[in-house]
Amino acid sequence: MPHKHLSPKVMRSDAVAFFKKLLGETYVLTGEADLKAWGTDWTKVFEPKPLCVVLPSSTEDVSKILSYCNTNELAVTPSGGRTGLCAGAVASDGEIVVNLTRMSKIMAVDTTGLTLTAEAGVTTQALQDAAKENGLFFPLDLASKGTCQIGGNIATNAGGVKLIKYGGTREQVLGLEVVLASGEILDMNVALRKNNSGYDLKHLFIGSEGTLGIVTKAVLRLMPKPRNLQLAIMAVGDFISIPKILAVCSQKSASVTAFEFFTEVAHKIVLQRLPGARTPFKDISPFYVLLEIEQPGREPELEELLEALFEEGLITDAAIAANSTQFKEFWGLRENITESLAAHGQVRKNDISLAIDKLDGFVKALQVLLLSKRPKDMEIVFFGHIGDGNLHINYVSPKTRDSKDFHAEAREIEEGVFKLLASFKGSISAEHGIGLTKKKDLHFTRTDSEVSWMRMTKKMWDPKGILNPGKIFDL
Ligand SMILES: Cc1cc2nc3c(=O)[nH]c(=O)nc-3n(C[C@H](O)[C@H](O)[C@H](O)COP(=O)(O)OP(=O)(O)OC[C@H]3O[C@@H](n4cnc5c(N)ncnc54)[C@H](O)[C@@H]3O)c2cc1C
Repeated sequence: MPHKHLSPKVMRSDAVAFFKKLLGETYVLTGEADLKAWGTDWTKVFEPKPLCVVLPSSTEDVSKILSYCNTNELAVTPSGGRTGLCAGAVASDGEIVVNLTRMSKIMAVDTTGLTLTAEAGVTTQALQDAAKENGLFFPLDLASKGTCQIGGNIATNAGGVKLIKYGGTREQVLGLEVVLASGEILDMNVALRKNNSGYDLKHLFIGSEGTLGIVTKAVLRLMPKPRNLQLAIMAVGDFISIPKILAVCSQKSASVTAFEFFTEVAHKIVLQRLPGARTPFKDISPFYVLLEIEQPGREPELEELLEALFEEGLITDAAIAANSTQFKEFWGLRENITESLAAHGQVRKNDISLAIDKLDGFVKALQVLLLSKRPKDMEIVFFGHIGDGNLHINYVSPKTRDSKDFHAEAREIEEGVFKLLASFKGSISAEHGIGLTKKKDLHFTRTDSEVSWMRMTKKMWDPKGILNPGKIFDL
């Protein structure tokens, strides 16, 4: 069904012919398999139905595509690595998918000013590698880094496992180049750390999920390489101990670079599903915390920190990664949860956040709610960036279960979770965005007034509403 507010002024065949003339036959995809594959992201909830997929190779190409689509009122879905978890890059309504995979050049690395300039289609892993080759460090780090693109990271304001120390994507962006709905190229690409000259418009595009413009280039901050990273995995008997562990780490001035948690169910599923996965623990424990610290010299040794945690009764067992293989193994237990769950069953995901001091009260109330609502064949799997107050709740049922029934049941529980969350002033989306899957729940986190200002902002930058229509909110 076409978007109600748009009345396309060209036939599909004319639009495809225009794109083929602009980009060449190879870079305009119309085959059924291509439309299915490129028209969706990780969510796989909505049936992809794009009009076509276009693969530009330059900012000028993107500008010409958007100018044509704007004139002819054609809906556009910006697309990156398609690892999104809220159907932001899903084209389910006859949209033109504009995917930036071909725009993957790293243009410059400035080792004095500590910046990196890249096209938006470069993967997060490639950025990390480029920083490393230059003796530096790019701190945005997420399990999808081999596939997701910096354009997608910026559009979702991705968080990841190092946010606790370095901040999220927003904190890494110094400059942006964006193509607006009209085709205008807006250059906000100044690589300045200090620039208080009027409104800083780039922040509007960070986290806007492709609804305000297509990011084509970014200037990113680099960091000195962390020195002497140490990793421990800890077994924890109860949830209340987890924020207390974090507090002890901060008091002992350990420089925490990651503080992640997962439950025994998550641990068990990774061990079942990930070939070669190994755990250092003999006994099972309800919770596990992965603690990474930078230990450049003065801070207490990790062993001392763990001893203190034992003495305070906050952990029941712990293991320190003794070499790079164990480092990978321990991280693997956390980073492979999403993929292991996908192999294990049908999954519905919540990605919520709370102020750390509210976590315990919320989790207690949540346990009561789940006890009364959870169907027998549904597992509820918790993990996440707990050091940032970010909890991923996963509703998991066997693949044999009827999908509609599963989602209906999980939805009922989820609504209760969001109501509870609103009473604790939490967010229904900590880092994944809103996209299509969560727009009906935006009101749990944002006031009517906020959503109304968002709509007005959208109308100002994209008056015809061609960019990612239906995402975040309806117009
Ligand atoms: C295994 C796994 C682990 C993950 N871990 C994390 C995590 O720790 N933290 C986290 O935050 N997320 C995580 N994610 C979610 C996902 O990887 C991020 O949201 C990521 O930033 C999406 O990037 P992408 O290139 O895949 O974007 P896509 O999925 O292609 O698109 C995401 C959104 O961005 C828009 N978009 C894409 N490119 C552009 C562009 N150039 N200009 C404008 N808009 C654009 C799309 O329209 C869509 O709305 C994980 C996903 C998986 C599968």
